[in-house]
Amino acid sequence: MIYPIVKYGNAVLEKPAEPITEFGAELKKLVDDMFESMYEAKGVGLAAPQIGISKRLAVIDITFKEDPNAKLVLANPEIIYKEGKQTQSEGCLSIPEFREPVTRPNKVTVRAQDINGKWYEKTGEELLARAFLHETDHLNGKLYISHLSALKRDLIKRKIRKLIKAGEW
Ligand SMILES: [Zn+2]
Repeated sequence: MIYPIVKYGNAVLEKPAEPITEFGAELKKLVDDMFESMYEAKGVGLAAPQIGISKRLAVIDITFKEDPNAKLVLANPEIIYKEGKQTQSEGCLSIPEFREPVTRPNKVTVRAQDINGKWYEKTGEELLARAFLHETDHLNGKLYISHLSALKRDLIKRKIRKLIKAGEW
């Protein structure tokens, strides 16, 4: 099932999500639906709050279907190590049409549970590190625009408010 992506302005995007406690058929179905919804939206990462479900769950595939082994399920993820710095243009499916350069650590290790509840650690660099950070932020109710200067952030918010008023958001 393909879920519509929740857009900026919806409160679910800005509150901390609830831990995943049950690893069963229901979660597997949700994860399948999240991958499907992410691919449909042309994204490389999706957090459950972005489909209106306030749970600490995210999916990532930075290869966008190229490599089946690159499909990652992150339940209850936490960033446990960060190193270096990178600045790249970043966007978010919940804030469509906007992109801004964001400086983040270049190498991070995430600790998360897989689809079966098994804990694992994975280290990623560059885009994968960015995806780990971006999706984990989502589960803490934080959007990438919070990493921008107040000036840039307010400009984007103002543009979005206009779009909302015009019924184009
Ligand atoms: Zn996002």
